[in-house]
Order: sequence, then structure tokens, then C-alpha cells
Amino acid sequence: MCPPGVPAKQSRIVAVLPSRCEPRRQGLTGSPARGTQSRMSNSPDHNLSAALARSLEIDLLLGVRAVPLSLARASGVRKPGKQGKPVPAAEIARRAQALKELDEQQVKTCTLCPLHKTRTQTVFGQGNPAARLVFVGEGPGADEDAQGIAFIGRAGQLLTRMIEAMGLTRDDVFICNIVKCRPPGNRDPHPQEVSTCWPYLDQQLQIIRPEVIVALGKPASQTLLRSTTPIGQLRGHWHDYYVSGSPTVGEPTPLMPTYHPAYLLRTPSDKNKAWSDLKQVMQRLGLPLPAR
Ligand code: SF4
Repeated sequence: MCPPGVPAKQSRIVAVLPSRCEPRRQGLTGSPARGTQSRMSNSPDHNLSAALARSLEIDLLLGVRAVPLSLARASGVRKPGKQGKPVPAAEIARRAQALKELDEQQVKTCTLCPLHKTRTQTVFGQGNPAARLVFVGEGPGADEDAQGIAFIGRAGQLLTRMIEAMGLTRDDVFICNIVKCRPPGNRDPHPQEVSTCWPYLDQQLQIIRPEVIVALGKPASQTLLRSTTPIGQLRGHWHDYYVSGSPTVGEPTPLMPTYHPAYLLRTPSDKNKAWSDLKQVMQRLGLPLPAR
């Protein structure tokens, strides 16, 4: 997150990145890892340099070449709620408590499918309990299984950069998976595992009530949309997600499928397509778009 008073992005040409902006290993939030922050100077100059370097790095990774001087932080999502209206503090606290109870009373102790036998711990997901935007992946990987936090491995670090390229932080959104326990060897979760675990995700989405869902990758997209269409055809288009599973019951939530960050690490040539999908999400949420 940018320090107070520091604009998130300045007009610049990414081609003149200073050497300090070269990709480096980052922490959970894409900013210096929380554990390392205390070792850094807290001076305004240092924070400004770090914020600008991080922002330049994100742009370079996503292929953005220039952004307007006036591009502000994504104030819409930083004030969660429908059409950007702030959610009252009491309601945020209620949702946070509901998520906590779901995690501690049901998910953490769940043994409903075979994945509980091989997990180190469950990975519930984390973020803003009243987020306007929720990212849903397929399941925890080895790093997530070890630490109990969603999307913190290499793919998670790229997701962090994608979120920051939207002008947001991980604390602005909510990040979770379809299954809460790691499938052994990072295989795709089996249909029976998905159908068993899905009610937890449904409850999360009912509590958070996001305005937009981004499904990351084929398993998450096909599961949420109850579709067998390839991700390459699903992505880039808006779909409706119904908690009920039926288009005749309940209100739909707009859902944008896009590529999973792990796939983008293997296929960087498709990063532009993912960025195009995220720009559609930004437009839908009324967030300022970067100029190309
Ligand atoms: S994956 Fe979901 S349903 Fe299966 S044991 Fe874990 S929490 Fe329970």
C-alpha cells in the first residue's frame, strides 16, 4: 500500500526502469514481505522509493508501458459496498465474524472429503470481509498448505502484482479457492471433492456479497459456471454466477473467468489477455484504467 499522501502511480515510461525495479522475490502483499518491513527504514523518502519501484515493476510485468499522471488509487474498491457506497463498520464486523465462525467451526475441522487426509491445514482464504471483488482459484498448493494462506507461492506473488496493477491491494479484495485442502501433488481437485467443498465457497460469497467474482483458471471457472467450455473461450466474457445454481433463483453476480497465475507463469505470452480481462473488471467496478 502506498504511504499516505503518495500517489500510487506517476506518469512514466517503463522502458527507463531503474535497476532497483528488476523483478525480485516479494512477500505476501507484493510489497516487501511483512516480516521484512520492520527491517526497512520508515522514512518518507524510502517509502516513496519503494512504492514507486513496486508500481513500476508491476507495470513492466503486465506489459503496461505508461499510465496517466492523474491515475488515482482505486478508491471505489477501497470503500467496499455496492456502487462504491461504504459498508457500515458494524456490517463489516458482522461479516468478518461470520467468516471467522465458518472457518473455525466448520472448515478447519472438516473431514467430509478425502483431501483432509493429506492436508497440513485447511486454507480458508483471506481479505476484506466486505470486498467488492473476490478472486477464486481451484485449491491450495504446497506453500499455501504449509502456511494456511491462499495464493502465497509464486503464482500468488503474480496474483498480488495483478491486483496491484488494478490499483488495489490484497487487503481490498478477498482471495480464496474452491477446495480448502490441498489436492496431493497439486492435481486438479476431483469432481466429488469439489462438490463436497463447494458449500463453503457458497457461504463465503453469500457473506461477502461481492459485486464481481474473478475465477482464476479452468477448474474454478468451469466449476463456478457449471460449464465444460474451455477456459480460452470462457475468459474475456462476462458470465452470471448464481449461488443457487439456477438462473431462475436469486440474483446473479457478474463473473469474469481469466487465466490462473500459475498458467501465466508458464505462458507469459498470455499475460496481455489476462490484463485485458482485469481491465474489464476495473471498468465494471468503476476503477480508473491505465492509459496505454
Ligand atoms: S477439501 Fe473441503 S470438503 Fe474436503 S476435507 Fe477439505 S474442507 Fe472438507
